Amino acid sequence: MIQECRMMQEEIVKLRRDLHRIPELGCVLPETCAYVEARLKELGIPCRQIAENGGILAEIDTGKPGKTLLLRADMDALPVPEETGLPFSSEREGRMHACGHDAHTAMLLAAAKVILKHREKLSGTVRLLFQTGEEVMDGAEMAIREGALEPRPDAVFGMHIGTIMGAEIPAGTVIAAPGCVMASCDRFLIRIKGVGCHGSTPEKGVDPITVGSHIVTGLQELIARECPGRDARVLTVCRFTAGHTWNVIPDTAELEGTVRAVSDEVRQQILGRIREIAQGIAHTYRAEAEVEMALGSAPVINNPEMAELAAEAAAAAVGADHVMTQIAGPTMIAEDFASYLQRVPGAFLFLSSSNPAKGTDRPHHSSRFDIDEDVLWEGAAVFASIAKRYLGAK
Ligand SMILES: [Zn+2]
Ligand SMILES: [Zn+2]
Repeated sequence: MIQECRMMQEEIVKLRRDLHRIPELGCVLPETCAYVEARLKELGIPCRQIAENGGILAEIDTGKPGKTLLLRADMDALPVPEETGLPFSSEREGRMHACGHDAHTAMLLAAAKVILKHREKLSGTVRLLFQTGEEVMDGAEMAIREGALEPRPDAVFGMHIGTIMGAEIPAGTVIAAPGCVMASCDRFLIRIKGVGCHGSTPEKGVDPITVGSHIVTGLQELIARECPGRDARVLTVCRFTAGHTWNVIPDTAELEGTVRAVSDEVRQQILGRIREIAQGIAHTYRAEAEVEMALGSAPVINNPEMAELAAEAAAAAVGADHVMTQIAGPTMIAEDFASYLQRVPGAFLFLSSSNPAKGTDRPHHSSRFDIDEDVLWEGAAVFASIAKRYLGAK
């Protein structure tokens, strides 16, 4: 199986480049779904759409009873105008595959072909999930609502290509680590209502800007003084908007930001306290605060046994010297793969494609982000190897 994935390298590159040309955004990806569906039909793998163009679910039935393994790839792109200058650059204005999801889709399609060919060596079912809407953090929950986990699989695996775990990790390295590997991601919006007046007579109004400044500081106090030091967390106010001119105190101010945490406990603690702190401070200074929370995704927490199984599978595919099983710490970047891991034991892996000589060491979401295509076969081989290890004859 591994050798066959290696032989498919050129084919995987073509799949990736085809997809790279047609990036689509959000939860509904008509062109991308049509492309993936066509490839699965060519292989004779039964599949169906999730909602309308909201992703593809496919199944490879080995004909023998056994467990169900779910392998997931995300397929959506970003509203970023591409500046890579690649000959197969985006043909859709203002959109780009700047996170490598084109590669994820290509690698899973290749793995599907190899797994199908060798299905007589496996028992059970391999379910393939081509997910939309990862970048908008809605896709995984939508796929779950539409039955991606019905009947419930026994294990789930996914993988991210690129430089997420560090551009210094050489291309071709697979990372399969236990525990939390990626943080949660949530958004908050605080509207402060004061009373506007002339800038020369602040005593006649309630200044929402000074109140907002206290809230910004108060929120940092929450991170610094109330959360346990062992758990990484971030709270950042990324927008503070107020006022129109230099001599008028405005009526309102708005703060907007993001919270990241590496455990559900700390995530809930921070989210619970934002409202109390904002409203308490506003009250102290005679203003009012309205707080809106938009919950994003939970931390990505790998099941230790599944991470170990994935690491062994990866070592069989690419050699143990190309597999890392420990990370310095979780990245504060988030992934909606967390939604599956909250329900099914599994692991989320990383495949480095960072190669400074090829300029593929840039950060994700950059308009010049690119991957080292030489590692594409590895992603397919790791997926196939996981299927073999999980569903193969013991
Ligand atoms: Zn991304
Ligand atoms: Zn991504």
